[in-house]
Amino acid sequence: MLGGRSVHQWVEQVVNDLLSASGDNIPPIQLKVGAGILLHRRITRIEYNKDTPVDGQLIESVDGFKVILPVFRGYTKAWLRLVLAHEIAHSLFYNIRSWPPKPILSVGNGDADIERLCWLVARSLLIPSNWLREYIAETPRPGQNLFSLQLLYSISRIAQVPWRTVAQRLIGDTGLWNCILLLFESGINAPNGQPSWQLVWHIVSPQAGRVFIPIGHSTSMGRKYPHAHGELNNLLLRCSADTHYSSVCIQVTADTFRSISGIKKALYSRWGGNVFPIYISGRGQQSTLFSGNNDDQPNAITVCIPL
Ligand SMILES: [Zn+2]
Repeated sequence: MLGGRSVHQWVEQVVNDLLSASGDNIPPIQLKVGAGILLHRRITRIEYNKDTPVDGQLIESVDGFKVILPVFRGYTKAWLRLVLAHEIAHSLFYNIRSWPPKPILSVGNGDADIERLCWLVARSLLIPSNWLREYIAETPRPGQNLFSLQLLYSISRIAQVPWRTVAQRLIGDTGLWNCILLLFESGINAPNGQPSWQLVWHIVSPQAGRVFIPIGHSTSMGRKYPHAHGELNNLLLRCSADTHYSSVCIQVTADTFRSISGIKKALYSRWGGNVFPIYISGRGQQSTLFSGNNDDQPNAITVCIPL
């Protein structure tokens, strides 16, 4: 199926074909029944059901497909657009010229590789690479820093997708930003009564190679997240208390991240014992930027480490 191309090249091609066939390639990509991509992929109905799995369902019917989207508390329009785009991606593995559509792969939906591929197609559909490259080339960043949370959020608003999806596109999928982005949330009940920050999500550019950070793995005590201890926790605490900045540059060493070994290892191999800059963005006066997405906590902080 890939014909000697990498997965990313294949996705790029498929998405470009899909966008040009549906006559819509400028975000926000329209996802309406009876028009554009949905019409092109013969998705004729959308239903909402609270018992549907988180990534939705694509069901063949005599006149094309029906998509069932999950409805949970806290789900936003941006997230549902991503799930719908994921189901559009699943439709690519059907022959839509037959009635009802016929699967063309022997592996079924739910296969881990197919699911990963469909999420990549979904992200690429809603934030097309060519558009993204042009947008970030034309948009100046404050202080010419690599990382700008504002830019991340403006793309999120334009493309109507969750901001983490934008980060996945800019960092994980395309490597346009060569960095590690970490999202911390403050927990309660730290021994000294101070907030304790835990790493709940991260994204790493492909240039960094494999960076292994176990996040949210299940234990008998529930899910376990790496904690920021010592110097790093203090840094985050200090930044979270300041309401007047949106992103602050701080000089650190790999050792600052000693409580999160996967990151420390990656940074040590990049910087050795030397000092390098990181960018910490709390809510500050940009607090509205953190709202409107399904999974953001008000006590969230992002840390960007350029590589
Ligand atoms: Zn799926």
